Amino acid sequence: MGDCIFCRIVAQEIAGRIAYEDADLVAFHDINPQAPVHILIVPRRHIESLNAVTQEDAHLLGRMLVVARDLAREHGLADDGYRLVLNTNRAAGQSVFHLHFHLLGGRFFHWPPG
Ligand code: AMP
Repeated sequence: MGDCIFCRIVAQEIAGRIAYEDADLVAFHDINPQAPVHILIVPRRHIESLNAVTQEDAHLLGRMLVVARDLAREHGLADDGYRLVLNTNRAAGQSVFHLHFHLLGGRFFHWPPG
């Protein structure tokens, strides 16, 4: 976790556009947005991916979803809709190995995803 970019944002060693934070979670705007709203929700604690979570993380994961829902409401996405994405490992396109949900909204999305 030494050079994890999201750990550095969480620790405020590098700047992030913070959208939400509490004792366990931080949400910040993606540096390369794929939609008008593109926010990343991450645990403060370094967890590599969904593959690394344990039963003890179940509450934390639930809170990530509730924070995503609240941010979607706050950014006016709730009625039209929004997408939550959690990429796990290479085939899914995970590029930062610190667990995160993408909250995407403000445009229409295709299904199936590319
Ligand atoms: P993933 O490909 O699912 O691992 O998503 C990683 C996301 O992190 C990408 O959408 C990147 O644009 C984003 N990202 C990488 N570095 C930063 C950064 N310094 N600040 C904000 N977002 C970042």
